[in-house]
Amino acid sequence: MSLTLNLAEQLISRPSVTPEDAGCLQLLTERLQPLGFVCEPMDSGPAEFRVQNLWSKRPVAPAQQAQAAIKTIVFAGHTDVVPTGPLAQWKSDPFIPTHRDGKLYGRGASDMKTSIAAFVVAVEEFLAATPAPLLNIAFLLTSDEEGPSVDGTKVVVEQLKARGETMDYCIVGEPTAVKRTGDMIKNGRRGTLSGKLTVRGIQGHIAYPHLARNPIHEAVPALAELSATRWDEGNAFFQPTSWQMSNIHGGTGASNIIPGAVVIDFNFRFCTESTAEGLKKRVHTVLDRHDLEYELQWTLGGQPFLTTPGDLVEAVQQAIAAETGLTTELSTTGGTSDGRFIATICPQVVELGPPNASIHKIDEHIAIADIEPLKNIYRRTLENLQAQAVAASA
Ligand SMILES: [Zn+2]
Repeated sequence: MSLTLNLAEQLISRPSVTPEDAGCLQLLTERLQPLGFVCEPMDSGPAEFRVQNLWSKRPVAPAQQAQAAIKTIVFAGHTDVVPTGPLAQWKSDPFIPTHRDGKLYGRGASDMKTSIAAFVVAVEEFLAATPAPLLNIAFLLTSDEEGPSVDGTKVVVEQLKARGETMDYCIVGEPTAVKRTGDMIKNGRRGTLSGKLTVRGIQGHIAYPHLARNPIHEAVPALAELSATRWDEGNAFFQPTSWQMSNIHGGTGASNIIPGAVVIDFNFRFCTESTAEGLKKRVHTVLDRHDLEYELQWTLGGQPFLTTPGDLVEAVQQAIAAETGLTTELSTTGGTSDGRFIATICPQVVELGPPNASIHKIDEHIAIADIEPLKNIYRRTLENLQAQAVAASA
């Protein structure tokens, strides 16, 4: 049996619904320590929502540490999974890895326990062939990526920054492929910025509008202007920034009352052509110009990040081409990921994992045929980075 498949199954059989880790990190620690990894638990959060994190690093031999060419590659991922949904709808128990029609079924099969297993086995194979690489290798793993993501990767990155830890390359194992492992990777993600806008008027009888002030009427022209605004044009890597309203609440329920307030929720998904501060300012300018009486609460969910083609993207693209024959597509679409936190400490971050068509669904699965190529792509990426390091130190 494939070592990657075997380890993936061991992880899937641990029911680690956020923030539970269910022993996944312990299993991985036992696997990494014999390879020379120093494993540091960095758990965080209150007792009722305790998040387990692991920072595990294998430094190069002391004699090589002074070399300028030594870089650090980090594999980042999460052991937690989303809830199963109605168990009766699953064809097999989501926490008993099951094979059917060439696929491995189980919660976390594609998001993202197989990626973790693949990277561990890739490192094992790489170190067996290259016992003293010119690369520091590390794992940053958390049991809260699918939940609030407050005590997970974010906290580990803050602690690593505080003690001066650096990294050069990071591969996040999120499922990024469309049809086959390797056909798409993410080299960036959009940022997310939410606003809760309360526009105030004066409540009154609908038959006496001159004695009231209708906040819905006052808000509508401003909202129309905001929805028609072109925030930027995007760029070679990103779609243009988008602004969308998600909720409007106004009115008392009675049809003869002008309400006193209307509340509008909206969200920006923004690219690297705009900044959160710049977007906030532009929204305020529109609201002020329409003379609204309003309050606006902002929540910055994540900054955008972009890794332009360089050492890491090249190493990954070459590895994908060599292992699968595919020319991978670089993409920045989709929701946020923990890449947003890692990008604040690591200049080059890419996300690379198996197809994502079944993630978070009933009967989540991964095609068995996608598993070995994923491990091989990870291993060859390490080999490519090692070759770059050797060339740079020559
Ligand atoms: Zn995930």
